[in-house]
Amino acid sequence: MPDIIRLLPDSVANQIAAGEVIQRPASAVKELLENAIDAGASIIRVIAKDAGKSLLQVVDNGSGMSSTDARMSFERHATSKIKSATDLFSIRTLGFRGEALASIAAIAQVEMKTRKKDEDIGTLLIIEGSKVKMQEETACSTGTSIAVKNLFFNVPARRNFLKSDVIEFRHIIEEFQRVALVHPDIEMSLHHNDKLVFQLNRTNFKQRIVNIFGTSMNEKLVPVELKSEHVNIDGYIGKPEMARKTKGEQYFFANGRFIRHPYLNHAIEQAYQELIPDSSFPTYFLNLEVNPQHLDVNIHPTKTEVNFQYGQLVYTAVRSAVKHSLGMFSIAPTLDFETEQSFNIQMPKNYQPKPPSITVNPDYNPFHNPRPSYTSGMSANREGWEKLYDINRPADIPQSKPVGSNQIEPGQPVSGLFNIQDTADEPASKLLQVHNRYIVAVIRSGLMVIDQQKAIERIEYEKLMIAVHHGHGDKQRCLFPQTVHLSPGDAMILEELLEELDSLGFEISSLGNGSFVLNSIPVSSQPVPPEGLLESLLENYKNNKPILSSGRQPAVAALVARNIALKFNRALKAQEMQSIVDELFACQAPEVAADGSRIVKMLPIQEIEKLLQS
Ligand code: ADP
Ligand code: MG
Repeated sequence: MPDIIRLLPDSVANQIAAGEVIQRPASAVKELLENAIDAGASIIRVIAKDAGKSLLQVVDNGSGMSSTDARMSFERHATSKIKSATDLFSIRTLGFRGEALASIAAIAQVEMKTRKKDEDIGTLLIIEGSKVKMQEETACSTGTSIAVKNLFFNVPARRNFLKSDVIEFRHIIEEFQRVALVHPDIEMSLHHNDKLVFQLNRTNFKQRIVNIFGTSMNEKLVPVELKSEHVNIDGYIGKPEMARKTKGEQYFFANGRFIRHPYLNHAIEQAYQELIPDSSFPTYFLNLEVNPQHLDVNIHPTKTEVNFQYGQLVYTAVRSAVKHSLGMFSIAPTLDFETEQSFNIQMPKNYQPKPPSITVNPDYNPFHNPRPSYTSGMSANREGWEKLYDINRPADIPQSKPVGSNQIEPGQPVSGLFNIQDTADEPASKLLQVHNRYIVAVIRSGLMVIDQQKAIERIEYEKLMIAVHHGHGDKQRCLFPQTVHLSPGDAMILEELLEELDSLGFEISSLGNGSFVLNSIPVSSQPVPPEGLLESLLENYKNNKPILSSGRQPAVAALVARNIALKFNRALKAQEMQSIVDELFACQAPEVAADGSRIVKMLPIQEIEKLLQS
């Protein structure tokens, strides 16, 4: 049998390697930006067309390259940044693997212009699918410009995997922001389809954060600083009230490079513990400086995963620094967990503490509140459910065993406090709100627990979709039109969503420069305060990219419904609860939320019994 193993040609090998480094236009942006920074640039421009699918260009005023280096830079494993394997353990540059340009040139049409400061003439180089098409002298400014055209032109399968322009451009913005955040001393700009998206002038770290994420960030940030033997930390964290329900701005940088680090993220969560609800995420922008010898960046081709040699110490330092800052700014009690002390309260001698006394009104009925209804409107689909939660019928409950009287202290007013039985003139609603989050209903077979927010989300979603189906969502004019000022990135997203938002009943006009006026919002069951609605909508949109795969209009409707629902995280009147329950069970799909989770859970009496027996 003949031998069958042969060496792949370089162009094929490069294409395979490219798959690891360049997954999408944003990966090319990342690599080109890193090269510009390593070249000592102080001004970097990024230009994209069609979310980078047809053009990506990065122009810098850095060191530039000689004509030989320009040609060499596209070879695989060609780098000026390390010379030997030992250098791998003291990396001070962002690049070092020498594969980015070779990878990009393997899967795109690349045009490079570069000139060194001390040379009069520069070099123009054109490479397509790893083949040099042209190399000649050219007049150009100092620095390097690399234009990447038609990414994946020769790998159609890859090109087909790319997502919509909106999503791909979001990735580009994300990479751009990561680099921009950790290099506030570099002037950076981003253009997309001839529109300026970001113009970031040289500034300090805090101002850069504000320039990227909007002025509202300004008063929400608390500085963090810690110097220790193994790590220096500086940056900003968000005040606890800024914590979000969705993963928002969470940035770690190690030695000037954006990193992902779940372990360190945990350190921050620990520091915030008890200051923010379990379901929300703190905001942070933290720079970690460690001895390059103690940081292994060579564990993944995209270099965002790293290993700290003294990981445990870095963890403790991060937790401690964040906790300290939260304390310093009187946001949390200043408890230093390392030297935690017990409280020592001075009491006068012979002081006899008295138990606190409380007074309880046994006639208080939390459900007695004749308020207008949450509204009703839908009535389809509810019959089956109606039977289930019909609370006015006598409960069909197996007789439970009598509770031993010795389990209750004699004389304790148990029945008065928790009695929600019908009174003669008004039947109690038998709906109970728990922690502003759940509605508990007594049903024939036991209890039904409803997630309040998800229920409202479902109701609003179905209403919006019905409205869209009939042509256009109804509008509700804002009493005071809301003006919002958005960061360039957010403004772009909003522009792209305007059409869908309009059909749902929003009326938004652009004033230019990232300012928008919100005049109307969709009619919802309860008046929704429009303040912050657009901002939270954008925030959610950015953090829920996958929802877009289900089609844009339903996805945007789901998003709007969620944000309306978020406004109802509050105590509800009995009537409001009743309407929510009624409307929920009039929905097409009352049981499941958009994300597939449950809205309703039944707790049959047998299960309750079991709970109490174990
Ligand atoms: P790496 O960055 O890992 O060294 P790259 O393939 O990204 O590998 O780049 C190869 C080499 O090309 C770099 O080491 C650098 O010498 C040179 N180079 C790339 N981009 C630039 C640039 N914008 N300015 C100056 N030199 C550059
Ligand atoms: Mg590089």
